[in-house]
Amino acid sequence: MSRPQPLLSFEVDTSGQDTSLKYDDFDSEVRRSWYHYLPLCLLLFLMMAPYPSLFIVLVNHYLRTLDNPIAFVIHFLVIFTLKFLAFVSLMICVARDPGPVFFNASDQDPIDQHGDMGLAEALMTMGNTDDDCRPDKFCRKCWVPKPERAHHCSICGRCVLKMDHHCPWLGAKCIGHRTYPAFVHFLTCITAFSAYVTIISISAVRWSFNNPLLVLDQATPVHELLLAAAGVIFTLVVGSFLVYHIYLITTNQTTVEALSPFLLLRYIPPLPASMKLSDPPMEEELSYNQRRVVRDAHRFVRMYDVGWRRNWAQVFGWSKPQGWIYLLLIGGTGNGDGRSFPRNPRSQEMLSRLAARLEKEA
Ligand SMILES: [Zn+2]
Ligand SMILES: [Zn+2]
Repeated sequence: MSRPQPLLSFEVDTSGQDTSLKYDDFDSEVRRSWYHYLPLCLLLFLMMAPYPSLFIVLVNHYLRTLDNPIAFVIHFLVIFTLKFLAFVSLMICVARDPGPVFFNASDQDPIDQHGDMGLAEALMTMGNTDDDCRPDKFCRKCWVPKPERAHHCSICGRCVLKMDHHCPWLGAKCIGHRTYPAFVHFLTCITAFSAYVTIISISAVRWSFNNPLLVLDQATPVHELLLAAAGVIFTLVVGSFLVYHIYLITTNQTTVEALSPFLLLRYIPPLPASMKLSDPPMEEELSYNQRRVVRDAHRFVRMYDVGWRRNWAQVFGWSKPQGWIYLLLIGGTGNGDGRSFPRNPRSQEMLSRLAARLEKEA
């Protein structure tokens, strides 16, 4: 007997090999207007804005006044190399899918068996499996199983693997598993560029103040001062983001996880039915004291912290052959498939203690 045709179906690649079709299908659902790209245009403008002043300072101060072609060439090469590397990682962040979530071969039974699944069938099947209906396991907006650490971005209207945050500056896209190394690389290059410009500008300003009669024209010291001021501001602003992300990588957290203490509730062991809480418990169901307990625990429980070396290798993938080339050019390539992550072996014990404390505060 032939199977009835479903009203709405998910096309599934049963070979489980080529997933590029699904990336494209998914991305086409994300509708962006021209104004979403305005912050990116402003970012590109800010990246190019210092170059006229930089040329003036390098030529007038280092080449013509100091007559030091070696310093001129070194500064020129460093500045352009750092900015080129920043543009490479910026393009990766803008053009690459941050981490598509889709039905694939590893999602096993319902798909592998039928290949084509109706909406009603999908819902019924999901309800029959262990805990796929849990809000942390299935996205009811994208209708896809949600892997570990994946989150739904309400602005992009889709789920993203190991979502870090939504970034309006980089083409109004999310930063996720596949673009996070490039994002950190971009922050590093911009911070290094700003710091380098600050150093050479301050050096030129000091020389100009100490030797006012030898300065070629009055405009050059103004450009030096402007570059120094802008360099300090950008070094501090972008550098503070970079320091924060270095902390997040070292402790193996995403921005979403670091700012959302109640995500821990997804991982705690089942609580007694007498507490009358959902499984997993929802933030709004907890009392004031229980919320305080969760916030306190969030400062110590690092679900995926497996030691700083492995945490860094997980993001940048430098254990791969020639991994350093990727690391240098685009910030490496993340290890793993972005769907499952090794957990901190101590986390389960800490979560059990958290569950016990929640029960005590009930
Ligand atoms: Zn979703
Ligand atoms: Zn987003």
